[in-house]
Amino acid sequence: MSPDEPMSRPGGGMKVVSPATSAIHAGEPEGRPGEPVVAPVVRSSTFHSPLSAGAEAGEPLRYSRYGNNPNQESVAAKIAALEGTEAALALASGMAATAMTLLSVAEQGDHIIASRHLYGATGVLLAEELPRRGIATTFVEPSAPAAWLAALRPRTRVVLIELPTNPTLKVFDIEPARQAADKAGAILAADVTFATPVNLRAAEHGVDAVIHSATKYLGGHSDLIAGAVAGSRELISGVARMMKLYGPSIDPETAWLLERGIRTLPVRMERHNCSAQALAEWFTGVPGVRQVVYPGLESHPDHACAARLLDGFGGMLAIVLDGGGPAADRFCASLKLAAVAPSLGGVETLVSQPRLTSHVDLTPGERASLGIDDGMIRISVGLEDLADLKTEFAAAAAAAAARVAA
Ligand SMILES: *Cc1c(COP(=O)(O)O)cnc(C)c1O
Repeated sequence: MSPDEPMSRPGGGMKVVSPATSAIHAGEPEGRPGEPVVAPVVRSSTFHSPLSAGAEAGEPLRYSRYGNNPNQESVAAKIAALEGTEAALALASGMAATAMTLLSVAEQGDHIIASRHLYGATGVLLAEELPRRGIATTFVEPSAPAAWLAALRPRTRVVLIELPTNPTLKVFDIEPARQAADKAGAILAADVTFATPVNLRAAEHGVDAVIHSATKYLGGHSDLIAGAVAGSRELISGVARMMKLYGPSIDPETAWLLERGIRTLPVRMERHNCSAQALAEWFTGVPGVRQVVYPGLESHPDHACAARLLDGFGGMLAIVLDGGGPAADRFCASLKLAAVAPSLGGVETLVSQPRLTSHVDLTPGERASLGIDDGMIRISVGLEDLADLKTEFAAAAAAAAARVAA
């Protein structure tokens, strides 16, 4: 089935057929003799007005802040095809995607229920920024099914989850959050950056607003900042309206680069999934590694749920070293191949310490309550040779353990 004859699903979702093919061909312009196979970057900020003589009736007014430049439109169509939604929108960053989505559905006096396991800036947006606009948030433990319904208020407009979570890679059942959203007449929004549409088609599970930091796996090469939202035509047009007013549209050059990255998303994810699983199993026997956190391991508390929900367990894993922060510092200092840097989802392996990066503003006690030990190392497993990564991490683990033994 071609992407232009999608099969309707309840809730506006459509069945995704062959992500490998959609990633490459969805959204691309019709191939005419003499036309380039890869569409060019269209840098023009503005376009001849549909009101000018000779324009076809019904042509929209095009302007690149509106998100309807050809590069912005083609990458959005590709993302919608991969997510199996009616529509999608690419924006200037993952935070732009989240913020514009929330602002499009919640207004002064409204209420949001959110998972307490969120990307740092999303948590601050909800806890500090949106309250300035009269929008309150209740944070709940996402793995406690009753918590969602208990947090409902008459003006709950959004239920927001993130999955898998950072850095503990929790994968919880979406259904209780879905039911709470239904009961309130609210939308269910999910930041599924860690999963990608290859490992999870969130719309098939009733998610109304599928949000990505496209900076990560969708772009895939650590060379752009972008975000995306996918959902019904109605939802996306509301988000696009906010984007027009607040202004975080994606630059055409970045949209083109993002589309280039997405073409290889399925093949990259296959390798990320395989390498991370292999490394997680390998780390399990390494001296000085107290715990390995990966949803593909049976030892992970959410393994059964992850196996049910996901088509792949992803490229992110975490380990907890004996010896806390000092051991984690020694581990990082000894790395040669892997870069110690925030962010994730690129072709190169990236390593970070949650206690110094994503969760630096929390106390050790607060981190512990989220399951984040000070000896935790988060690894975004890249596409390098697996044997080279094992050599690298064996040396790092030995360096981390050295002083503990002494
Ligand atoms: C990085 C990230 C974001 C923010 O994305 P930007 O593109 O940096 O704005 C949001 N959510 C998750 C899960 C992320 O990893």
